[in-house]
Amino acid sequence: MNPEQHNNLDTLPDVVMPECPQRNLLRGQKALVTGANSGIGRSVALYLAKEGADVVVNYVFDDASAKEVVDEIKRKGGHAIAIKADVSNETEVQSMFASMLEEFGTIDILVNNAGLQSDAAFDEMTLEQWNKVINVNLTGQFLCAREAIREFKRRGVISEISCAAGKIISISSVHEVIPWGGHVNYAASKGGVMLMNKSLAQEVAPYRIRVNSVCPGAIRTPINRTAWETPEAYDDLMKLIPYNRIGEPVDIGRAVVWLASDDSDYINGISLFVDGGMTLYPGFAEGG
Ligand code: NAD
Repeated sequence: MNPEQHNNLDTLPDVVMPECPQRNLLRGQKALVTGANSGIGRSVALYLAKEGADVVVNYVFDDASAKEVVDEIKRKGGHAIAIKADVSNETEVQSMFASMLEEFGTIDILVNNAGLQSDAAFDEMTLEQWNKVINVNLTGQFLCAREAIREFKRRGVISEISCAAGKIISISSVHEVIPWGGHVNYAASKGGVMLMNKSLAQEVAPYRIRVNSVCPGAIRTPINRTAWETPEAYDDLMKLIPYNRIGEPVDIGRAVVWLASDDSDYINGISLFVDGGMTLYPGFAEGG
């Protein structure tokens, strides 16, 4: 991109993301990505596979889109299978891990990505809306992390594969720290993920298990379509993003690959904000 183009903030072009070169950073590793048939999870699954990991593509509905991700990985020479399971259901999660261990032998990387919103003004929010979001976004991450930790501890470090006995990467959100009126259940779930992960990282670090979060800002996926699909909505969104572009799923895919690889071996218990500066309080750039 011509640097001069940056001078006029109104005419910044859409960004063309460069392809990630194949480096086989994760060769021989087995990964499970929850909610991998859409948006961020899909990109994470493709990037992990690109670096040589075998990937379980978890999904809860829409067999065709899960198959499409598996086929895409296979087409590029990778190895993947799809497993259907609701991450908020203990029995389904346990049976998904049993199937993975049977098929792949073990797990090295868990990406706890599945998540949803069910928005309402606080005084209109039903208990069902509250429970749904907490059950998927927080309890779902607990159930999957618990199964992964059990296998990481059982197997321990295999140094030819990785310096660590296992890695968990949670897809949290900027809303683990930014309050979000009208979305209190969602913000509470992500705040919960933050302290669950930091506490878990502290507990399992002696076993050489690393637990980190990636906290996306606004990423162009179906979950937040209304925030970017019209020019007016996109312009409004840019007021919150100093870097002046929406995030793309590949921005998250690449961050997850790094946190899953030995390149980040001394990183444990962090929240990595991938948000174009959304957490920099952009309103203070000219105010305050
Ligand atoms: P998305 O709607 O495209 O993907 C969410 C995925 O989770 C889907 O595949 C969905 O089927 C799956 N899912 C939902 N409930 C499930 C369940 N019970 N069991 C298994 N899978 C289930 O949205 P996305 O933006 O890709 O969201 C992925 C994650 O990123 C979520 O945790 C979300 O909170 C987080 N996030 C997204 C953004 C963003 O701007 N897109 C920002 C911050 C955080």
